[in-house]
Amino acid sequence: MYLPLNDRIFKVIAELAKIHNIEVYVVGGYVRDLLLEKKSKDIDILVVGDGIYFAEQVARVLDAKHFTIFKTYGTAQIKYRNYEIEFVGARKESYRFESRNPSIEQGTFEDDINRRDFTINAMAISLNSDNLGEVIDIHGGINDLKKKIIRTTGNSDIIFSDDPLRMLRAIRFASQLNFTIDEQTFEGIKKNAYRIEIITKERIVDELNKILLSTLPSYGFILLDESGLLSLILPEISKLKGVEKNEGKTHKDNFYHTLQVVDQLRSRTDKLWLLWAGLLHDVGKFQTKKFQPGVGWTFHGHEVVGAHLVERIFKRMKMPTQETMPYVKKLVMLHLRPISLVKEEVTDSAVRRLIFEAGDDLDDLLMLAEADITSKNEQKVRLYLKNFKLLREKIIDIEEKDKIRNFQPPVSGEEIMQWFNLSPCKTVGDLKNKIKDAILDGIIPNERKAAIEYLLKIAEELNLVADENKINWEK
Ligand code: ATP
Ligand code: MG
Repeated sequence: MYLPLNDRIFKVIAELAKIHNIEVYVVGGYVRDLLLEKKSKDIDILVVGDGIYFAEQVARVLDAKHFTIFKTYGTAQIKYRNYEIEFVGARKESYRFESRNPSIEQGTFEDDINRRDFTINAMAISLNSDNLGEVIDIHGGINDLKKKIIRTTGNSDIIFSDDPLRMLRAIRFASQLNFTIDEQTFEGIKKNAYRIEIITKERIVDELNKILLSTLPSYGFILLDESGLLSLILPEISKLKGVEKNEGKTHKDNFYHTLQVVDQLRSRTDKLWLLWAGLLHDVGKFQTKKFQPGVGWTFHGHEVVGAHLVERIFKRMKMPTQETMPYVKKLVMLHLRPISLVKEEVTDSAVRRLIFEAGDDLDDLLMLAEADITSKNEQKVRLYLKNFKLLREKIIDIEEKDKIRNFQPPVSGEEIMQWFNLSPCKTVGDLKNKIKDAILDGIIPNERKAAIEYLLKIAEELNLVADENKINWEK
C-alpha cells in the first residue's frame, strides 16, 4: 500500500515542508501498519528541525481545532478528522542506568531513526519534494515485516538496558502481529529482564492489556514466561506453572490451563476486564494446592484466596480499583458456581442464588465459566456445553418469573423497625435476610404481600408483635 499523498493531511505537510525548506517524514507505527496494509489513525511526523514550530504551521493551514503542545517532550499534537498527528523534532538520546528517560539533544534524521526500538518501527516515508513518498528503510524493516520478525535496530543488550519498557513492547508487538522475536533480540530480553523494575506499573499494565487484547493472548504470555519477565511482573501467575505427581496422580498445569481459558475468552469477547478475570481466575491455586491420600490433588477455597489476591495485584500494579477491581474479584470468587450447577441436577433455588449474587455480571460470569472448560475429554466437554445451554435457558425462565437480578428487598429495614417498634439492631438484618432467603429458595414469590405475610409469621416465632395499623401492604 502506498502513502495516500492525495490526502489533505499529507498534501499540506509536504507543501509546508517545501515552503519552509524543512526535512519532514512520516515514521513509526503508521508506516509499519501501512506496509501491513492496515490503516492507522495515529500518524507520527518527524521534523528535522523545530517540530513544534512546524506543527503550528500545519495546524493553522488545516484549521485544526485541537492543537496541543507538550513542552516537556518537545512534541505537538494535532487532532484532525479522525486522526491524531504527532510532531517531533529529530533527536538524539543518551541514557543513564537508573532511568528510562533519556537526555535529549537535537539530531539528524539518522540519529532519530537509530533511537527507535525495532526495525519494523524504524522505517520512514519522505514528505520532501526530491523523493516524495519514498520509503527509507535503514535497518531492514521491510524484510523483517515480510519474515514476520521483531528485531531491535541495533545491539539488543543496549537497546533493552536503555529502556526496559521495550522488552514488553517487543513481546506485545509479537503477540499483536503474530510475529516471532529474533533470537538475539530475545536473548537481549532475557539478559535485561531484571531491569523491568525501573518501569512504572502503569506502563507495564498498558502493555499487558494490549497482550490480553491480541488475538491469541497465550502467545504473548508464553513469551513473557520464557523471557523471565512474567515471574518479575506477575509472579502469582508464573507460580501456577508445573505439574506434581503423587501416588500416581497428577493435576493439570494451571498456567497452561489459564492461558487456554484466556484464549477461549478472547475468541468470544473484547472486554478487557473480563479477560483479566480469565487470567486471574485460578490464581489462588498455588496457595491452596494439597494432596489428599486416596483422593488426589485438591485446591479447596482457591476462589476465595484468588479473590483476595486480585485485590493485592490490582493495588500493586496500580490498576483501576474503583469499579474494575470489585468486578474482577467477584468473577474470580464466583467462577466455580455455574460449572457446579452444570455438573449437578440444577434446582431453581440454586439458579436464583446465582442470579442474585452475580447481578449484572451474570452474563460475563457464564462466559468465563464456559471458557473454563478445557478438558481433553471431548465427550465431557460436549456434555458440559449442552448443560450450559440448559442452564442459560433456565436462567431466562427464572428471571422472567422472579425478577431476581438487581434484587430489591420487598420490605425495607426502616419499615421493619417502624412496624415492630425496633431500633437499629441485628434482628432487623436477620429478618430481612430471612425474607431474601425465602424468596431465593422459592418458599415465597418475590412480591410485597407474600413477603409481609412471611415476615409476620417469622416475627411471631421471635415473640415480636407488629403494630398492624402501620403496615402498608401495597407500596
Ligand atoms: P502502537 O501505536 O500500535 O502502540 P507504535 O509503533 O505507533 O505502535 P508508539 O508508542 O505510538 O508505537 O510509538 C511510535 C513510534 O515511536 C514507534 O513506532 C517507534 O518508532 C518509536 N518508539 C515508541 N516508543 C519507543 C521506545 N520505548 N523506544 C524506542 N522507540 C520507541
Ligand atoms: Mg502509535
